[in-house]
Amino acid sequence: MSKAVVARPVNGITLNGELEYLLDDSGAVLIFDSPEQAMSFLTAAGVEPEDLRQMTIMESCGTCCKCGSSLFKSLTADYAFQCFTCDEDFYQFEQDT
Ligand SMILES: [Zn+2]
Repeated sequence: MSKAVVARPVNGITLNGELEYLLDDSGAVLIFDSPEQAMSFLTAAGVEPEDLRQMTIMESCGTCCKCGSSLFKSLTADYAFQCFTCDEDFYQFEQDT
C-alpha cells in the first residue's frame, strides 16, 4: 500500500493551476497511509463533493534514497520528487540508484 498526499488549488482557486499540499494544523504536510484513507479523511472533514473534485490525491512514487520516507511527485515544476521528511526537492537523477 502506498502513502498518499492531497494536492488542492491554492486558496481554492483553480484558474492559475497552482497546487498546494493539504497541511495539518501545525503546517506539516498531511501524509496518509493510503489513497483510501485520504479520501475518508476528506469526506469525514466535510469537504463538499464540488471541492473534492478539484483536489488530487497523489500516491507516493518511490522511496527517498536519503531517509527512506515516501517520495511524492513535486508540485514544483523544476523538480521531479519531494521528500517531506528531508524537506527537500529532488531531481530525478538524485533519486535514481
Ligand atoms: Zn528523505
